[in-house]
Amino acid sequence: MNVAAALPAPLGLLAELTHRCPLGCPYCSNPLALDSRSDELDAASWARVFREAASLGVLQVHLSGGEPAARRDLKDIVAAARDAGLYSNLITSGVGLTPQALNGLADAGLDHVQISIQDSEQSSADNIAGYKGAFARKNALAAEVVKLGLPLTVNVVVHRANIGRVEAMVDMALALGAGRVEIAHVQYYGWALKNRAALMPTREQVEQAVGQVEALRTRHHGRIVIDAVVPDYYARFPKPCVGGWGRRSLNVTPAGKVLPCHAAEVIPGLEFWNVRQHSLNEIWRSSPAFMAFRGTDWMQEPCKSCAMKEKDFGGCRCQAFLIAGDARAADPVCHLSPHHALVAELAAVREDVPYDYRHS
Ligand code: SF4
Ligand code: SF4
Repeated sequence: MNVAAALPAPLGLLAELTHRCPLGCPYCSNPLALDSRSDELDAASWARVFREAASLGVLQVHLSGGEPAARRDLKDIVAAARDAGLYSNLITSGVGLTPQALNGLADAGLDHVQISIQDSEQSSADNIAGYKGAFARKNALAAEVVKLGLPLTVNVVVHRANIGRVEAMVDMALALGAGRVEIAHVQYYGWALKNRAALMPTREQVEQAVGQVEALRTRHHGRIVIDAVVPDYYARFPKPCVGGWGRRSLNVTPAGKVLPCHAAEVIPGLEFWNVRQHSLNEIWRSSPAFMAFRGTDWMQEPCKSCAMKEKDFGGCRCQAFLIAGDARAADPVCHLSPHHALVAELAAVREDVPYDYRHS
């Protein structure tokens, strides 16, 4: 069967508008080698990408970074998303976006705002962000978002330093007026991989947090939606990473490279195409990086004959490469992987060392 001909339409586009960011989170999902400002796509190119995305079937664009507000032309980019008919979600650190600028984005058609918080306690939050005053600025921006009537999601990245305050962070999201809170455990790629020993929670912490999330869902039912993802290193089965490689989403870097997932560049030998040379349709249908792990033909055992293979697609290719040394292997998070014991060994390495903050 021709995999490309049977392709589903992608639903979401992650537009990394810039890698510039005033914060220095030690788990930042940006690559270690950040794109420079001079390489960033201009607003007209983003407008073309959005039109191409919409004609491919994409419904939603996540305007991300870095900090998207570092772009002076953010309003034009938001307007371009609206003109393309895409639902736009701004993912912001909350630092660098003034109330006036936010107002302008709302006028330009912004549909939704997602603010990340580092902790419910100011000093810890500022320490994790590597930016004094970040906590206060995030709170202030959240109030502006709610005042403008824009829907707000609070995003919380959980690790050893803040995992004990999941309940307080959900309370904080409620107090800020969020309709949804996303609790995501650190994913160990890039900067987070560098900081893994400093960020890794204990199994007891994770189990306690998972129990708390369940209780919070019951307590706050109807008031706030709580989305939570179980941390990889303590799971028995992997997640269907990005909903399956090349099945649901595209990620465009500031310089225009199109990736099947934000960490895909860690896998050596993949050829990524760029929107400067190719249409999004061509890239989605036939770029080598998207074709590499699309479907299930590339799999080896134990995934190849596993009943779960159409559900989790063998888990994360980047994690398979980073831990098992083979991007075609089963995600070692899976208890059926011959490399699964390595995950427990890595999770046991915890050191109270200073963070290696994200930097350019
Ligand atoms: S994770 Fe932190 S450092 Fe990275 S882009 Fe977001 S706010 Fe900036
Ligand atoms: S063996 Fe592969 S397909 Fe089966 S559950 Fe594990 S990762 Fe998923």
